Amino acid sequence: MPVKPKKVHRPWERQQSKPQEGRKADDSFYHTTAWRKTSKAYRKAHPLCEECERKDRISPAEVCDHIVRIEDGGEKLDWDNLQSMCHKCHNRKSAKERHYKKQGNDKR
Ligand SMILES: [Zn+2]
Repeated sequence: MPVKPKKVHRPWERQQSKPQEGRKADDSFYHTTAWRKTSKAYRKAHPLCEECERKDRISPAEVCDHIVRIEDGGEKLDWDNLQSMCHKCHNRKSAKERHYKKQGNDKR
C-alpha cells in the first residue's frame, strides 16, 4: 500500500504577509537605493531646513523634499528639485499641496 506523503503543517513557518503591498504606486521610489543615496547626500550638503532658513529659523533637516512633486513631473534625483526640510515644514507643504490640488488651481 502506497504511503501518502504526510503533509507537514508548520504554522510557525508561515510567511508573513507583506504589509501594504502595492498600495501606493509612487511610494516604491522612496525605497530605492538611488533615492536613499541622493537624499542622504543632499541632506549632508544642506543639513538645515531650507524653509526655516528663509524665515530666519534654524531647524535640522529631517526629510528631503521634492520641490516639484514627482507626480507633477518633477525630477526625482536632480538636486535642483530637492530641498531639505524639517517635518513641520514638510507637513505644511504637503497639506498646502493637497489643498491646491483639491481646488484645482495649480500654478502653471
Ligand atoms: Zn522647517
